[in-house]
Amino acid sequence: TIGMLAIDKDGRISGACTTSGMGYKMPGRVGDSPIIGAGLFVDGEVGGAVATGSGELVMKTVGTFLVVELMRNGMSPSEACEEAVKRIARKIPDYENHQIGYIALNKKGEYGSFCIQPGFNFAIKNEVKTGMEDAEAWLK
Ligand code: ASP
Repeated sequence: TIGMLAIDKDGRISGACTTSGMGYKMPGRVGDSPIIGAGLFVDGEVGGAVATGSGELVMKTVGTFLVVELMRNGMSPSEACEEAVKRIARKIPDYENHQIGYIALNKKGEYGSFCIQPGFNFAIKNEVKTGMEDAEAWLK
C-alpha cells in the first residue's frame, strides 16, 4: 500500500492511497485501502491518516478514523499512530505476525508514524514546487 498525505500553505489537508492488496488474497476480497476511515481518513478540521498492513485488523478498528480522532483529542500524530497500533496489538494475540503501520499529519503540519514491524519507511517532501517549473524553463 502507498498512502499519501499533503497539506498546503493554507492548511488544507488531502490524502490518497493505493494498494495491490494482500498476497494470496481471496478473489473478491476488499481490503482497508478503499474503505474510508480504515485505510484512509481526512478531516479538514484535524488532520489525516493512512494505513498499511493487515487490512482486516485496520478495518476492525476503523484505524485511520481512530488516529484522526485521537489527534482531535490532543495526541500528536506519532502518539495517535502508536495508540492505534497498540489498540490492535492488545486484542490480537499474534500481532507480531502482522504489519500494521500508520502515518498521520495534523493541521499544524506536524506528522508522525508508528509501526511494530521493521522496514516501515515514509518520505517527507517539503519543497513547494508546482510541477510546472521544468516545463516553463524548457519553454523559454
Ligand atoms: N492494507 C492492504 C490490504 O489489506 C495491504 C498492504 O498494505 O499491503 O489490502
